[in-house]
Amino acid sequence: MNGNTFHLDEERTLRLRDRALAATALDIAAVLGQEHLSPDDLATLLSPAMDDTLFARLAAESARITRRRFGYALSLYIPLYYDNRCINHCRYCGFNAGNKVPRVFLSREEILREGRAIRAHGFTNLLLVAGEHPESADPSFLVPVIRDLHDIGFRSVSIEIAPLEEAAYRRLVTEAHLDGLYVYQETHHRATYAAEHPRGPKSDPDRRLSTPERGARAGIAKIGIGFLLGLYDWRYETLALAQHLSFLQKHHWRAEFSISFPRIRKAEGVAGGPHPVGDREFLQMVCALRLLFPETPMSLSTREAPAFRDAAVPIGFTNLSAGSSTVPGGYGTRKGALAQFEVEDARGPAEVAAALRARGFDPVWKDWE
Ligand code: SF4
Repeated sequence: MNGNTFHLDEERTLRLRDRALAATALDIAAVLGQEHLSPDDLATLLSPAMDDTLFARLAAESARITRRRFGYALSLYIPLYYDNRCINHCRYCGFNAGNKVPRVFLSREEILREGRAIRAHGFTNLLLVAGEHPESADPSFLVPVIRDLHDIGFRSVSIEIAPLEEAAYRRLVTEAHLDGLYVYQETHHRATYAAEHPRGPKSDPDRRLSTPERGARAGIAKIGIGFLLGLYDWRYETLALAQHLSFLQKHHWRAEFSISFPRIRKAEGVAGGPHPVGDREFLQMVCALRLLFPETPMSLSTREAPAFRDAAVPIGFTNLSAGSSTVPGGYGTRKGALAQFEVEDARGPAEVAAALRARGFDPVWKDWE
């Protein structure tokens, strides 16, 4: 780390990963008995020696910490895809510039219409999502769009679009009350990053890694980070993410940082990832991070299957997407555009909310509840 900008020490992270691989069941049991965890302890909790008994203890502790800090409330949000054009060539994504598919860029009016369709379900938290394209990331386009969305009742509008400069983020905050920014590093392993992002602005890993800091300096209140599960060794990625998150929480304490866990799904023209992450490994990672970061919101998307989501929610998650379409115009404006990836949980918002209530949770998604 250098000054106020985060730099990942890959050698150290690889040593931590090796520590994870070497940790025994006795090491895990010792860490589970501790009050406070260090980054080294996180490595131990990622060990392949985690058997069913130890995993049950880890999951119970993660659930206990999550309920103590967040109670039974679960915040539901919905993504609005408004542009599937992209100037990048990410190998794992259906929107990549080399994929010859129909492209859709919704107009301001069409976004408003989609927003109204979403508001009819009662959602008040909205995530605007777009491929990387200068037009759809231009603050002059976004400011009136976000204002429109506030005007029809969205309380919180976030973006998951091309990384911007600090001045652009500041403009979105001051002129349109942008609330949140989501930017995932995809992989913290530089060689893998270079192979997966061969061309386009996203091929610069440092600019992407510094995006949460630019957003925080601009005054964005909520910032989500993560990596794409399946691109590289999940243990290495988790240890890298933890270092990044610790740095951000220390240096940008005014912002609230959260973690998302996107897992690679199939999309047109692309296959799943080279390092698939199993359900059990996924949950081990989430629980281990919860023990190290008891105050950090964690988000689960509709990329995951309904049964897995219903079972996973109680052990550590605080935010959930529901009723998602990854097609621009997918809530009624346009038909036939390309989806970014296949959604696994196709249940409607009311059905997701009912499943959560059946498990004793309080889904928060309608402003009259
Ligand atoms: S992951 Fe994002 S930047 Fe990469 S091709 Fe897909 S939409 Fe574009």
